[in-house]
Amino acid sequence: MEMQKGKINVQTENIFPIIKKFLYSDHEIFLRELISNAVDATQKLKTLASVGDYKGKLGNLAIEVKLDPEAKTITVSDKGIGMTAEEVDKFINQIAFSSAEEWIAKYKDQDEKNAIIGHFGLGFYSSFMVASKVEVHTKSYKPKTKAVKWECEGNPDYTIEDISKKQRGTDVVLHIAEDSTEFLDESKILALLKKYCKFLPVEIIFGTEKEVKKQKDDKGEEKEVTVEKPRVINNVKPAWSQKPSELKEEDYKAFYRELYPLTFEEPLFNIHLNVDYPFTLTGILYFPKVKQNFEVQRDKIQLYCNQVFVTDSVEGIVPDFLTLLHGVIDSPDIPLNVSRSFLQSDSNVKKISSHITKKVADKLDELFRENRDDFEAKWDDIKIFIEYGMISDEKFREKAKKFCLLKNTEDKFFTLEEYKNHIQTNQTDKDKKVVHVYATDKDAQHSFISAAKEKGYDILLLDTPIDSHFINMLESEMENISFVRVDANVADKLINKEEEMPSKLSQEQKDKLKPVIEKQIDQQNFTLAFENLSESELPMLITQPEFMRRMKDMSAMGGMNYMGNMPDSYMLVVNSNHPLVTRLAEESDEGKQEKQVKQLIDLAMLSKNLLRGEKLTRFVKRSVDLI
Ligand code: ADP
Repeated sequence: MEMQKGKINVQTENIFPIIKKFLYSDHEIFLRELISNAVDATQKLKTLASVGDYKGKLGNLAIEVKLDPEAKTITVSDKGIGMTAEEVDKFINQIAFSSAEEWIAKYKDQDEKNAIIGHFGLGFYSSFMVASKVEVHTKSYKPKTKAVKWECEGNPDYTIEDISKKQRGTDVVLHIAEDSTEFLDESKILALLKKYCKFLPVEIIFGTEKEVKKQKDDKGEEKEVTVEKPRVINNVKPAWSQKPSELKEEDYKAFYRELYPLTFEEPLFNIHLNVDYPFTLTGILYFPKVKQNFEVQRDKIQLYCNQVFVTDSVEGIVPDFLTLLHGVIDSPDIPLNVSRSFLQSDSNVKKISSHITKKVADKLDELFRENRDDFEAKWDDIKIFIEYGMISDEKFREKAKKFCLLKNTEDKFFTLEEYKNHIQTNQTDKDKKVVHVYATDKDAQHSFISAAKEKGYDILLLDTPIDSHFINMLESEMENISFVRVDANVADKLINKEEEMPSKLSQEQKDKLKPVIEKQIDQQNFTLAFENLSESELPMLITQPEFMRRMKDMSAMGGMNYMGNMPDSYMLVVNSNHPLVTRLAEESDEGKQEKQVKQLIDLAMLSKNLLRGEKLTRFVKRSVDLI
């Protein structure tokens, strides 16, 4: 064949400049696109061979990426099906081109933020984002076909001519443009290959690497020798592409290390996803140790499409609480060349998302039922995840109610139902509500905890930031329960059972004492209340009513600042049955009375850890005086 010249049939004359400018930050995807094509061509050949339509030798099918900084070229070579001259015309000049054109028309107006997550579809022509000239040398697997070279310099003109290529397959040679020379850097290309091609199903080779080997010399002595060997980029059979029955626990752990070489923590457990109907989905999700802080990295799930890396930001594809997990999801059924907002409303994506949620809940349920001790041992690490899931996802919540645990201050675990039964007899209030008493800090709330324990109450430990949201959710989800923090009221009143005690102090005495006490407190933050408590309770106590405090905690967590700026509101409770209070009311020496009031308030403040600075100094002085 003579060299032929032609014009690509263009509707938009300026498509090349658009390709070039397109998605500035994402020029690097050209490499993924070319290698994906090479993988496809190789897989197609394997399929043809397996059904007997290709009878030649397959040979080594590795795809090779070569970098020549001097010639300023990158070459991607495969030994796949190749193309005949007619096919080049059809696939490259017509189909590939028009699909690139169509793709750009569709997406050029989208802004980066809402951008396409996968960018699949631009395909072969994405080469022109970085190349000023592209050559395709190709020879079809079909017998008696000639090899051809197609060449194009980033404008609608192309040439095609016969060449003498002997080897079956395709070499795509990119002549890197002046403004894209960063891609001539070996470490850059290596990093890109590691990012996109780490788990491709066909071996990818780039350059060579050194290996130290033990060899026996002539005298039979072992010697270490360094040999140069092709550097293989990928693991062609990553764990998620294998059958769960073929894998052992150790294989899953090894794969975790392969995914996150820089993470030293072992995962807690994993879930192998494997669905073929009504959509195709494979993957492995790992539960990391989440611990108290919420600052877990959220971009640890990687999304693949037939083993090609797409993105590590899966928001919109999996429910938000699942983004706390690590691992891999691979699905050809997630539409990748669409915007995020579209993705969220896609019915396949919704199905995938609820499938994953269900699988995760089932796995947790299984772990709980099969080995409760182990589940309890892991609880602190998975608690945030489960609570967050229950708050944010209704379907997950329904399943999780069975295995969600509560831990008390004695480190005993209960399911929600078990706990309710456990405390029912002693902790039901006059409105038939089962009151769950909890502490958020065992040390800071120590005096309240011991007072409540003396009443025979069980105290839960709810010490993570999302617990305030979590108990709010439980209160509305479960019938007839309520939560109250141990310092929300004096122990006698924590659970309102309507066993009103008589008051030793008369109303008249209260009226006289009230202004004396109020004078000593900051009335912006403190409210005074007389309560008829048992004599064994302290004379004065500071409590923090549940409602306002919880709202404040919740808004602090949710990032709403308007509540966070509100002052804390406290209650100064005066025990009208304490002998000291009776004495205080009868005290005729005003100076003495004031001193005693101050002393009692300071003691109450002290036990709530509120006495600081000058007030603390004065308290210490006054105490010495009193002795
Ligand atoms: P897509 O891969 O999405 O079909 P491309 O623009 O990347 O779109 O490629 C267009 C077509 O060109 C492919 O469908 C394929 O038929 C052909 N092609 C591209 N690269 C190769 C290759 N390395 N070997 C054989 N055929 C190829």
